[in-house]
Amino acid sequence: MEPQIPSFEDTRYNRQLMMPEWGAKRQDLLKSARVAVIGAGGVKSTLLMALVAGGVGNIRIIEFDHLELSNLNRQILYRTSGIGQSKGQLAIATLKDLNPEINLELIEDKISEYNISDLLNSWDFIVEGGDSPAGRNLVNDYCLQTKKPFVHTSAQYNYGYAFSVVPEWQTACFACYFPNDHTREINTGPVPVSVLATSIAGSLGAAEIFKWFLGYKNNLIINKKLCFSSLLLSGEFQYEETQCNPHCEVCSKYYTKKFEGG
Ligand SMILES: [Zn+2]
Repeated sequence: MEPQIPSFEDTRYNRQLMMPEWGAKRQDLLKSARVAVIGAGGVKSTLLMALVAGGVGNIRIIEFDHLELSNLNRQILYRTSGIGQSKGQLAIATLKDLNPEINLELIEDKISEYNISDLLNSWDFIVEGGDSPAGRNLVNDYCLQTKKPFVHTSAQYNYGYAFSVVPEWQTACFACYFPNDHTREINTGPVPVSVLATSIAGSLGAAEIFKWFLGYKNNLIINKKLCFSSLLLSGEFQYEETQCNPHCEVCSKYYTKKFEGG
């Protein structure tokens, strides 16, 4: 008997539907996914393109900045012709062109304690993107309080890392990873970084979201950081364990189990 070769249909998602761990049923789960992404800069450029290309159905982008020339070495959502224009509007235009099947929303505002509930309330997974310690801690606190899972992913120089926080499972929160983040001095100068680090960090962040909605929640990066060096000059991909800190001032307000050794 001739072996059965599946016929190839030229559809948008066909190449991923052919993957046994993806498939049509799991692809359908992505359609109803609701993801809010705070910021659309370097890491988020790659992350957003992956979500939109892969078929994550509903995405809200919160971005108030304008495009600058020095963004273009790594923020691959953007083009030179867009310099000076609203980054959020440019992002939406490119992403709609990439995949018109996705419901995309733009909020051109800075997230604050006054609007965070309105901006994130109806979204199921959050991509944390605060560019300041205050912003990161605000989102961490809000997500713990409302039990929303979120991913934190970041790139500087040649390195970066990613991890997720799942409040429902009482995993290590952002403040468990970075207990002194709120006391850190805000560096207002430019941070050295290349497209290699932002692209890897963005892909790792996107993978967390795909895992969540495709049904691989148990494979999320929780209670550890996945760290990488993009030029492979000083180490490779490696996990750094981070346990939930029983003395963490933030998640101890919301978690009940951790003192039981859970
Ligand atoms: Zn914590």
